[in-house]
Amino acid sequence: MTATVRPGLADEDLARLRARVTGPVLDPSTPTYDEVRRVWNGAVDKHPAVIVRCAEAPDVVEAIRFARRTGLPVAVRGGGHSIPGFSAIDGGLLIDLQPMKTIDVDPDQRLVTVGAGVVWAELDRATQEHGLAVTGGEVSDTGIAGLTLGGGFGWLKRTCGLACDNLLAAEVVTADGRVVGASDTENPDLLWALRGGGGNFGIVTRFTYRLHPVGPILYGGALVHPAQRTADALRFLREHASRVPDETSLMAALVVAPPAPEFPAALHGHPVVVLGAAYHGGLAEGEHALGFLREFAPPAVDLLGPIPYVALQQMVDAFTPRGLHYYVKSEWLADLPDGVVDALVDHHLARTSPLHQILLHQMGGAVSRVAPEKTAFTYRDAAFVVTVAGCWQPGDARGPHVEWARSAWRACLPGSAGGAYINHLDADEGANRIRAAYGAATYDRLIAVKAVWDPDNVFCGNHNIPPGHSGTRQR
Ligand SMILES: Cc1cc2nc3c(=O)[nH]c(=O)nc-3n(C[C@H](O)[C@H](O)[C@H](O)COP(=O)(O)OP(=O)(O)OC[C@H]3O[C@@H](n4cnc5c(N)ncnc54)[C@H](O)[C@@H]3O)c2cc1C
Repeated sequence: MTATVRPGLADEDLARLRARVTGPVLDPSTPTYDEVRRVWNGAVDKHPAVIVRCAEAPDVVEAIRFARRTGLPVAVRGGGHSIPGFSAIDGGLLIDLQPMKTIDVDPDQRLVTVGAGVVWAELDRATQEHGLAVTGGEVSDTGIAGLTLGGGFGWLKRTCGLACDNLLAAEVVTADGRVVGASDTENPDLLWALRGGGGNFGIVTRFTYRLHPVGPILYGGALVHPAQRTADALRFLREHASRVPDETSLMAALVVAPPAPEFPAALHGHPVVVLGAAYHGGLAEGEHALGFLREFAPPAVDLLGPIPYVALQQMVDAFTPRGLHYYVKSEWLADLPDGVVDALVDHHLARTSPLHQILLHQMGGAVSRVAPEKTAFTYRDAAFVVTVAGCWQPGDARGPHVEWARSAWRACLPGSAGGAYINHLDADEGANRIRAAYGAATYDRLIAVKAVWDPDNVFCGNHNIPPGHSGTRQR
């Protein structure tokens, strides 16, 4: 097997790494290299010099030491769903945590400790065996790691808070290769930064979450309407979002109906507006609480009813398949002015790809009640978050799709609360948008924590928070 995979990378360095880690170490000559290097976003096509598939924390320690010894830049992968492709790297070291799949549920204490390679489908299945869950993302093959570190919203957010609000402790490999704990009593500054500050501060190998009683059957699902009702549906959502109890979580999706059996043939390939909802509570209460949704207009498709929580968590998986090309913009919204509604309708109808999605999620409830100083997540008072997901087939010209997404996002700015969701920020947005995603006060606190835990900016393959003061060195 070839060992020199990058000029300057000595054969003995690679041999030493292979001898010291329990998981496989891949280079471009390894048969599985091409499959492993790929990520969810097919537009990202990067070739790491070395991939370390870590099975446990000591493997991560060895990987970090290797990176520091050889000078290779580092990328970190949990579930591989980074939209800008941060869990891929050209010519560097990819520290792949996907083999770390342990899930230890403590139903009595309502806690779960999870390996960094677990995805939401796996965690939901394990916790639901005990009738428990923690707020997770709405697409089940997304990683728990990246989602939690950036905040993490899902159907349970209005009763249970964000994923990061439920992160009680973490095991972290630091930039200098130590394994440390982070909790309210051990390195609390690190825990604070991990609750929303992204992958800037260390590599988390285990996450411990607080669990909540959930389901296992909830009342929820979706009502689908033809596109000509889009403006009215968004105004209807806006009107009810400020009134519904915390147990109710609402969203709208502007998509094109796929040729799926749930949709009547007449809708296949046509733009539709989907009103999505879930009620975290009893079935009878849920049916009563969500009844108002059917008063909007007779839906073309009615998928609202009792649904297992694990199925709710997989309801939209088919809309975001791996390997398509994606470009995403987002913004926290203080409100949803009529002008924004009209502009979203225009973009929905003037789409450059049938695969594009515009998603509007209601926020509030428990998210808004967490004290700002408890976490590095900022936009707790936002009423909504809008996500414009440009999506197209490999081979299509990128330009028009990216411009469509940018234009739809710009149209939302009159309702902006001040910045984007960091996990839905794409690679080209720049330092000012990263700063705005945190707000000045949180950002300044994050760069101070970064200076303590990663003064050399080893973890810079992300929406980077440089160590020290604003504007200091950035690799
Ligand atoms: C289809 C899809 C649906 C989504 N739905 C939601 C949703 O409902 N709610 C929501 O809040 N977000 C959602 N997101 C955004 C999602 O939170 C981010 O894309 C997140 O980064 C995915 O995490 P991951 O572990 O899969 O990604 P990865 O690509 O593995 O990781 C992303 C980055 O996070 C950092 N990172 C990952 N693991 C670690 C670790 N263990 N230690 C330190 N740093 C680490 C690294 O910087 C890494 O590059 C969605 C994204 C996609 C693609």
